[in-house]
Amino acid sequence: MSTKKFLLAEKDIPVAWYNIVADMQTKPAPILNPATKEPLREEELYPLFAKALAHQEMNQTDAWIDIPDEVRDLYKIWRPTPLVRAYGLEKALDTPAHIYFKNESVSPVGSHKLNSAIAQAYFCKEEGVTNITTETGAGQWGAALSYAAKAFGLELAVYMVKISYHQKPYRRSIMQTFGAQVIASPSMSTKAGRKTLTDHPNYQGSLGTAISEAVELAMQTPNCKYTLGSVLNHVMLHQTVIGLEAEKQMEMAGEYPDVIIGCFGGGSNFSGIAFPFLRHKILGGKDIRVVAAEPASCPKLTRGQYQYDFGDEAGYTPLIPMFTLGHSFAPAHIHAGGLRYHGAGAIVSQLRKDGLVEAVDIHQLDTFEAATLFAQTEGIIPAPESSHAIAATIAEANKAKAEGKQRTILFNLSGHGLIDMAAYDQYLAGDLGNYELTDEELSGNLAGLEKIL
Ligand SMILES: *Cc1c(COP(=O)(O)O)cnc(C)c1O
Repeated sequence: MSTKKFLLAEKDIPVAWYNIVADMQTKPAPILNPATKEPLREEELYPLFAKALAHQEMNQTDAWIDIPDEVRDLYKIWRPTPLVRAYGLEKALDTPAHIYFKNESVSPVGSHKLNSAIAQAYFCKEEGVTNITTETGAGQWGAALSYAAKAFGLELAVYMVKISYHQKPYRRSIMQTFGAQVIASPSMSTKAGRKTLTDHPNYQGSLGTAISEAVELAMQTPNCKYTLGSVLNHVMLHQTVIGLEAEKQMEMAGEYPDVIIGCFGGGSNFSGIAFPFLRHKILGGKDIRVVAAEPASCPKLTRGQYQYDFGDEAGYTPLIPMFTLGHSFAPAHIHAGGLRYHGAGAIVSQLRKDGLVEAVDIHQLDTFEAATLFAQTEGIIPAPESSHAIAATIAEANKAKAEGKQRTILFNLSGHGLIDMAAYDQYLAGDLGNYELTDEELSGNLAGLEKIL
């Protein structure tokens, strides 16, 4: 076996994030004020988000945005992350493809989410904010933000989707260990939560509902801002450290990826690995494919509609131009909690429209089968979310084999699954199933959306 791991030094941690919007020929459609349907001005985001983050959100001109030293210093706890050649998986698949993965699971909280959590907490702190709120699905974002909030001395309240609160109690414990307050959503602590519980007393929650609750609390608490772990442009921006490092590491490996794959919830880890490479395609005509892997039970990029929609269930957020399943969509209770979100971020949605991004949807059982093979051949138990990227990678590697072609595949291992073993238990016991959205459910959800585009 030749080189297995490609490692960078601390000095190689990127000094700037990459803002793909500056290089896009067709910019994403503007986000809208839901009351006026007019494009939102940056200042209108200030009540909700730190000003610096609002500015990043709207920035369409600067391709590079400096990473503050304080943020880079905290990145040093676990960055740069390794790029790994998956020889074990290649051998098991007997494929001519070369498979590489960027291992974001080595962060202290086990996922890529810390890349943006640290940045968001820093910019809030810089502006004198004392309290922040957020939502979390599987608990990965909440865990990351809990550490980041503590690092910058901020108080944090996390609304955690109820099903995950019960399925993944250890993520709750992690957040509490870092000092955050964790509330199961829907809760009785907000108007949005009370309404949902009144209408559906047994509702197990969704990211959309939890966002509504976190936004509501932030708007009602002095000196408090809301933070979001995916979907928004500034989150994609922070995550580009993944792809920027991977770019250097692929060079060390002496290869360039033909296909880049990331699992897809709201789009942050996918964008993080893909955008720095996509830049070569946009600016230099490089021939690469980028593929988003999403659950068959929550297929916004493959079966959703491109439309203005809210980012949350109650309709508190601005209107975002996105591929969406409708903001009232209640996804099946799959274990990849981080992928149970109704929409895709505005940048990825535009890139998808422009044919620069592909998408595949994958059934839950296929993801666990892929995860098990990956665990057995590479020694890492992947997060159920990341397993979607692994399943898509295996499909690409099998295609390369069938076509008798060498192909270089790079995927992002967004997190490890060591806190998701209850899900693996169910899989091993044969108790897991597949969920596929029916056309009726889909059109029912979309019918409620106001047509603006
Ligand atoms: C949150 C999460 C995701 C999905 O979110 P994106 O913003 O689409 O990346 C994927 N993998 C892991 C491990 C996560 O925690």
